[in-house]
Amino acid sequence: MTERKVALVTGGSRGIGAAIALKLAEEGFAVVVNYAGNHAAADSVVKKIIDAGGKAHAMQANIADAAAVQALFERIEATHGRLDVLVNNAGIMTLAPLGQMAPSVVDAQIDINLKGTINTLREAANRLQDGGRIINLSTSVVGLKLENYAVYAATKAAVETLTAILAKELRGRDITVNAVAPGPTATDLFLQGKSDELVERLAKMAPLERIAEPDDIAHVVAFLASPAGGWVNGQTLRANGGTV
Ligand code: NAP
Repeated sequence: MTERKVALVTGGSRGIGAAIALKLAEEGFAVVVNYAGNHAAADSVVKKIIDAGGKAHAMQANIADAAAVQALFERIEATHGRLDVLVNNAGIMTLAPLGQMAPSVVDAQIDINLKGTINTLREAANRLQDGGRIINLSTSVVGLKLENYAVYAATKAAVETLTAILAKELRGRDITVNAVAPGPTATDLFLQGKSDELVERLAKMAPLERIAEPDDIAHVVAFLASPAGGWVNGQTLRANGGTV
């Protein structure tokens, strides 16, 4: 059992989630680094945290599987005795015009981005410590409404709605529920399949004229998880360099 506050970061093995896991560990949280299949990546995040004097465990669970998510939360309780922060970061994205999007690809995005988030929110609603924090990852594409992003953006628009409603349902427990909506961020999810020219064009959409690094997003999440962020509740905070 630990005296440290405990944070679960879903999809903490790579990209934005890995940066969030490292940042929260720096802030003193014991971090559960959840992952789907990339054991080596999750282990390397855990090793970095432990080498820096922090505390972390890697825990595999497919968030789309409600029973696996329940087992994950039970394992966290058994290992740490508490859970204070949930960061719903795990997500996938497949881009195509709606008319050409295969049913299996639609299902996968709904299963992971939407049902997966519902699965972890349900467990957190029942188990999070009073005074806890929930931070869901959305996307600025909900505001930009770009072609090819319809299904992905729709799953994240739903995540923003879940955020606002759960914040109200947790009344009286001093738990905040917020979403962070990044713009283009340098991870596999964003960069895969895009030419340098396209990345450059998307970077120029922001007045700050660059894409985000995962750390840019991790800082915003860490703020919402910190005492300083305690008065922000039920909100979606767009972190995109000013794009929308
Ligand atoms: P990424 O680099 O592709 O990493 C995705 C992470 O999610 C990995 O750790 C992966 O685990 C995990 N994951 C995927 N499916 C999972 C499942 N079913 N169960 C558990 N974990 C699962 O993605 P990212 O760019 O960091 O994105 C993180 C979040 O930010 C996502 O919700 C995404 O929609 C959102 N976002 C990203 C951008 C961007 O430009 N990158 C912009 C806006 C919003 P494995 O390592 O095991 O595969």
